[in-house]
Amino acid sequence: HAQPASEASGNPQGVLYLKLSAHGTALSRLIISGFGYTRRLLEQLQRGRDWDACGVLQLAFDDKEDQRQAKLAEAFDPTLLQRLNRADAETVAGIGLASGGLFYPEGGWVHPPALCAWQAKHPNIRLLMHHQVLELRKADGQWQAWEGERLLASAPLAVLACAAEIHRFDGCSELPLKRIRGQITRLPATGQSSTLSTVVCAEGYVAPPRLGEHTLGASFDFTATDLTPTAAEHQGNLALLQEISADLAMRLGADQLAPEALEGRAAFRCTSPDYLPIVGPLADQKAFTQAYALLAKDARQQPSTPCPWLEGLYINSGHGSRGLITAPLSGELVAAWADGAPLPLPRAVAEACHPNRFMLRELVRGKRKQGEASQ
Ligand SMILES: Cc1cc2nc3c(=O)[nH]c(=O)nc-3n(C[C@H](O)[C@H](O)[C@H](O)COP(=O)(O)OP(=O)(O)OC[C@H]3O[C@@H](n4cnc5c(N)ncnc54)[C@H](O)[C@@H]3O)c2cc1C
Repeated sequence: HAQPASEASGNPQGVLYLKLSAHGTALSRLIISGFGYTRRLLEQLQRGRDWDACGVLQLAFDDKEDQRQAKLAEAFDPTLLQRLNRADAETVAGIGLASGGLFYPEGGWVHPPALCAWQAKHPNIRLLMHHQVLELRKADGQWQAWEGERLLASAPLAVLACAAEIHRFDGCSELPLKRIRGQITRLPATGQSSTLSTVVCAEGYVAPPRLGEHTLGASFDFTATDLTPTAAEHQGNLALLQEISADLAMRLGADQLAPEALEGRAAFRCTSPDYLPIVGPLADQKAFTQAYALLAKDARQQPSTPCPWLEGLYINSGHGSRGLITAPLSGELVAAWADGAPLPLPRAVAEACHPNRFMLRELVRGKRKQGEASQ
């Protein structure tokens, strides 16, 4: 690509959406820490154009969601989230709603390309545009990134941060990552829709206007491999808008909008089976299976064999639908693993995101045989 943030990170607006659990799961703890980290980074960017702390309202659109939200309100501090009844939710959102919900006053939307561009401005970063790394080789203690016959770069430390494309590199071929296509719809703001003053989410989300357009999203397609936006998915997004707010749909004149004439963009999310990102150092898959074969017989063993790391090779991927919250902090986590510095997350959370977790689980469940890699 000609510039960074041209794939999943290229949407005009993404939401700082906190899908929390009242049970203190690793994912929930990661989301809380990542949210705070991203929010602090965003203070460097221009509010209104690059991001906005307009709050995020998650609607209690059915009984189950209402009960889930009640538990969250008990578990978390009101500075993070507050339950609002319908009238208060309507006042905060500036539109008519069918229910109240959970309001995150410090949430908001981000223009992801602005966040990526700001991070890439670091004086030690040199962007090599219009290149595709086809192969990684290790030579003389250096990881070399090759594009065919051309050596693009080499360094003692390499971080693979290329979403599901990491599969093409040897040490990562077995990581269980899936691509899920998603499409957003760009809706021109109207005089009446501009009253929307927070992000509002139900199954989908809609954001207050940025440069005269609302972002409405997003579809999920588990099989598609093509990235051309489709009218059917715009139609699906308009149905999500109706569920969020019939009043906002009317303010936007949604029933007059022809799906085939709408603008939008599609990209792949990259998800892992436990919905946690995959962040940290990589080990040699075959040597790992051999080194810890003992665990297949007795998972309580604590083998003293050192892990056969692929020295200097790290990964930061699998950020699913919440990369704006998890990816920046995961960059810090990679740096801390690499430097042997204090981790920016509780150790249990960092380990829950560790790339080795899948191999370890397979070993313990007896699904991985010594001396061979799994299929
Ligand atoms: C429709 C949609 C809506 C979303 N909405 C939200 C939201 O509201 N909130 C939220 O937090 N998240 C949202 N997400 C998820 C979020 O966008 C992702 O989690 C995040 O962008 C992932 O960032 P990434 O850097 O890991 O991957 P990407 O942004 O996909 O970046 C991967 C990069 O690697 C490059 N690359 C790949 N292979 C190679 C190679 N061989 N050589 C060189 N470069 C390579 C690609 O060109 C690309 O630039 C959404 C995603 C989609 C698709």
